[in-house]
Amino acid sequence: MNTKAFASQADLEEKQVSFTKLSDNAYAYTAEGDPNTGVIVGDDAVMVIDTQATPVMAQDVIRRIREVTDKPIKYVVLSHYHAVRVLGASGYAPEHIIASRDTYDLIVERGEQDKASEIGRFPRLFRNVESVPAGLTWPTITFSGRMSIWLGKLEVQLIQLGRGHTKGDTVAWLPEQKILFSGDLVEFDATPYAGDAYFQDWPQTLDNIAALQPRALVPGRGAALTTPEQVAAGLAGTRAFVSDMWAQVKAGVAAGQALNAVYKATYAALKPKYGHWVIFDHCLPFDVTRCYDEATNHVDPRVWTAERDRQMWQTLEG
Ligand SMILES: [Zn+2]
Repeated sequence: MNTKAFASQADLEEKQVSFTKLSDNAYAYTAEGDPNTGVIVGDDAVMVIDTQATPVMAQDVIRRIREVTDKPIKYVVLSHYHAVRVLGASGYAPEHIIASRDTYDLIVERGEQDKASEIGRFPRLFRNVESVPAGLTWPTITFSGRMSIWLGKLEVQLIQLGRGHTKGDTVAWLPEQKILFSGDLVEFDATPYAGDAYFQDWPQTLDNIAALQPRALVPGRGAALTTPEQVAAGLAGTRAFVSDMWAQVKAGVAAGQALNAVYKATYAALKPKYGHWVIFDHCLPFDVTRCYDEATNHVDPRVWTAERDRQMWQTLEG
């Protein structure tokens, strides 16, 4: 049997963590393609962007932060609503958890289902899952469009540059230093997860990121991009993946093909170019399913449940 294990249940290999200094104020906690966490050290406080998946995993981020500062961790920013990004929040005991109103709305609408779905898909990423408090991670501050948080004299802009990975995507931007924390809008050597994506909006949102001219960028997964050339490569790779998939799926839909046939053709078309990126086999079924939905009659992503995940996998990979 060549049947693939469901999602990433067979992915058990621990990754090497890096804590990369981008400036006196900005650090990237990365782990070879596992979800990243951004850290901003201001004059009087620390801000964490995306939390890791559990409070126990957050402790390793805190350990790294304490190697560079003893300032209090006051703010947690959620770049979007996905469980693997938000369920570690309580580990920081922050004064405030900040998210866009669109992200808040997604937590209300589908947070519970997403939590069960994500833990089922990728158990390794939820180390010590028993440390996650019951219920969901709720923002204490929400905003629409743009807001600034001042860490003393250091301005951090939280901006919605458009939909892409989800409808609530938020980037954190240090305008003085031109350093950007993109969340999953940008990935590097890692496959973009697009199960909740807006394929037709995502390229424009990447253009909006490029227009800020970041000199460094912390992607959602993959190494920190520390030069403008690397930033351009990260943006270009993400854009190519999203655009190639959309074109492929749209052509299949136009030819009247069913999802299963479109999936097989899209997998074959994208594998040579992107198959070496981490979680390629995990993401493709979810990504193509959402892309097919968007190319047919689902303007907004349908809610993934643990049960729907399994049914989809059985249909496309069984
Ligand atoms: Zn995500």
